[in-house]
Amino acid sequence: MLRQVWVQQYWYDESGQLRWREAKVSRARKSREGTARRRSGTTAADDDAESARVPWSGVEVVSPHDPQARFSHKPGKVEWVGYKDHQTETCDEQRPNLIVHVVTTLAPEQDVGVVNAIHTALVGQRMTPAEHLLDSGYVTPETVHRASTAHGITIVGPVRQDPRAVERPGFAKEDFHVDWRSETVTCPQGTTSPQWKPTMADGKPRLSVLFRRADCRACMVRQQCTGNVDGKGRHLLLLPEPLQQIQTRNRAQQQTPEWKQRYALRAGCEATVSETVHAHGLRHCRYRGLAKTHVQHVLTAAGTNIIRLAQHQPDPGRRPRSRLQELFHTMADG
Ligand code: SF4
Repeated sequence: MLRQVWVQQYWYDESGQLRWREAKVSRARKSREGTARRRSGTTAADDDAESARVPWSGVEVVSPHDPQARFSHKPGKVEWVGYKDHQTETCDEQRPNLIVHVVTTLAPEQDVGVVNAIHTALVGQRMTPAEHLLDSGYVTPETVHRASTAHGITIVGPVRQDPRAVERPGFAKEDFHVDWRSETVTCPQGTTSPQWKPTMADGKPRLSVLFRRADCRACMVRQQCTGNVDGKGRHLLLLPEPLQQIQTRNRAQQQTPEWKQRYALRAGCEATVSETVHAHGLRHCRYRGLAKTHVQHVLTAAGTNIIRLAQHQPDPGRRPRSRLQELFHTMADG
């Protein structure tokens, strides 16, 4: 372990000088805060060498007490060393909300990566929900499509809005008409693109649509649409057909009051997170290692359920009759 930590934190440069690796530029790291950096007369350009940087959070050992604990953060909100707990709870009317599934992962793992595992487990336990309310970290067109086709579960949660919409306030991707048969797109001004080309983005298949430069140059609303002034044609990146249709439909639906009212039910889940964190100390690991920490998370969920069941007051109108009440009603009817 000590050898692994040294390799992750130090390296020998070309001259044989032992040097401390620099932190990743894109990620602030708790483990380096307030710590002086070792300098050895090298240039800033050398410091930028990829080989001189620490590994990503997913593999970097940050605690001698728990080699599996990892650093993670939610920008502007919270940062921590340890693990991540994903809880699934019921939200049926007139019944206590119970935590029915718990997943524990390393802290840097993305939320979207556990959705299919949760659904597979729920199906295996015969607790398949008709709808699963999730926050935006879990919702992509891919997870929505997979949940629906593989498990028959409807995911209700916000799909991320187009991150480049601020650059192009005029027309979003959803304002264009896609013709899947002819493999072309028609813009709100009525101009049709040439056939799209398959491409890859972040290792995933996409469809690249590029409008003709001449068409866009002559367009009256070019600047609102293309977001540039150098006369390039509008470029769109489409997802494969079923995923693109999900993205377009969900982005429109999630703006409606009906959808917002339906999704408001998820606020109860935030209350559960708060309860398990503040009342039951969920963010304080009592064990070391992923497996034992998962046991803690499961026990915390079980304890929360016991308290909820004990406090639950069923609707008297729905409570089953006692034998005495049944006898009384039988006699009264007779
Ligand atoms: S800039 Fe091009 S794609 Fe955009 S509306 Fe005008 S013609 Fe259509």
